[in-house]
Amino acid sequence: MRTVYVNGEYLPENEAKISIFDRGFLMADGVYEVTSVLDGKLIDFDGHAVRLARSLSELDMATPISRDDLLEVHRELVTRNGIEEGLIYLQITRGSDGDRDFVFPDPETTAPTIVLFTQNKPGMIDNPAAKRGAKIISIEDQRWGRRDIKTVQLLYPSMGKMMAKKVGCDDAWMVEDGFVTEGTSNNAYIVQGNKIITRQLGHEILHGITRAAVLRMAREAQMEVEERSFTIEEACAADEAFTTSASAFVMPVVEIDGTALGEGVPGRVSMRLREIYLDEMRKAAI
Ligand code: PMP
Repeated sequence: MRTVYVNGEYLPENEAKISIFDRGFLMADGVYEVTSVLDGKLIDFDGHAVRLARSLSELDMATPISRDDLLEVHRELVTRNGIEEGLIYLQITRGSDGDRDFVFPDPETTAPTIVLFTQNKPGMIDNPAAKRGAKIISIEDQRWGRRDIKTVQLLYPSMGKMMAKKVGCDDAWMVEDGFVTEGTSNNAYIVQGNKIITRQLGHEILHGITRAAVLRMAREAQMEVEERSFTIEEACAADEAFTTSASAFVMPVVEIDGTALGEGVPGRVSMRLREIYLDEMRKAAI
């Protein structure tokens, strides 16, 4: 049984409790982060801590825990649950004032809810899906307008994954006004020759922690990076495509809407970036 963390306490998972009035439950009024654990260490912890603080601040929520205390909780959960390869899920909601109201409760009297739990995932590095490459479909982006805030409103992305699954694919890329925004739970990229193209930052996409690291490493490796919007037609004609996320790292894409990319196998640039990312991040893990 897992040990989880709820509002300052470490508890067996079946003893952890949250109020039915919690605004995370009633209104999706909460934010989250997912940090990978490799070799029992945290990947890019500070990237996630900085984005968490930004998400909270954009929603006028106080940051209820310091960076150092948060690091300690992450490490304690890794140790207590014996995680070598896996994930740590963190969620902070606006808490519960014991009723349901659209108006935010007074932060002086209503404390946020903090929950963390681990997910043991041996084999994340040697993921067979990364060797095979992902097949994706395109769907309309029907999410809200502030996707740069990492909120727990994940119903549409979850529906998108189901739409992909139903037609035998792995994931979906979302399209708005003719341009790809991002994947259901990852950022989207195409490769033309040695050039990596990914959508520019804005309110339309999540500012991926993995995206920032991968683009930095690509530039350091003298690859050309272009941050601009692209269409599904352009993606289908690209040499390669891939996605990035904290839980799947760099994931090659081999098919979009039934069209095979290049040779229909994971591309050279995508695989190289996956290798560089994993190498560097494992060295820098804390
Ligand atoms: N976009 C969306 C919509 C996501 O849900 C995620 C993963 N949480 C990402 C991008 C990738 O972000 P990160 O690299 O920080 O995991």
